[in-house]
Amino acid sequence: MDAAAQLYVQQHHLEQNLQHQRQQQQQAQRPAYRPCWLCRYYSASCPYMREIIEYVNDSALNIAEEEIVEQVYTIIASKWPQENVSREAIRTHFTQHSVSQNLIFARNVRDMNHLVNIVRAGVTTVEMHTGNMVVDDRMAKLYLSIVSQITAIFKNDGKRPALSDKAKAGGEKAAASNRPDEA
Ligand SMILES: [Zn+2]
Repeated sequence: MDAAAQLYVQQHHLEQNLQHQRQQQQQAQRPAYRPCWLCRYYSASCPYMREIIEYVNDSALNIAEEEIVEQVYTIIASKWPQENVSREAIRTHFTQHSVSQNLIFARNVRDMNHLVNIVRAGVTTVEMHTGNMVVDDRMAKLYLSIVSQITAIFKNDGKRPALSDKAKAGGEKAAASNRPDEA
């Protein structure tokens, strides 16, 4: 092996070592798996947790997510102060882990409302040279399509459980009959 080839092999080994060191450092820096407190204890068998579950289901459609986080934080901090569950952890749970139907429904409608406001602003424009108001066909079509989709979601109410008053009353009754503390 000539000198150049030896150097090449040495460099290669050096790079491999460096890479190995870097990987080890990265692994050491990576935080250990920390389970989500709400995911771990989200169960209707605990009356306090059931209070949270019912509050979230009942509030998701009418209350901003940030306020839900605040209310759940208050409940957890008062019932389980030693657990030190942060607002951030609760927010992460409800925005990334929970697939509560009402929460996701409310989020989708809010997103669509936000979008419809942006599109609506682009439907009509004023022509620079004439000062006339003109309608942008593409934006108008998009606007109508989003509006009709939002309307369709609300018309579909009967297919979504736990949202109509009737379904809600039935759900509460069913939950109440499962309560071991009241049996
Ligand atoms: Zn979670």
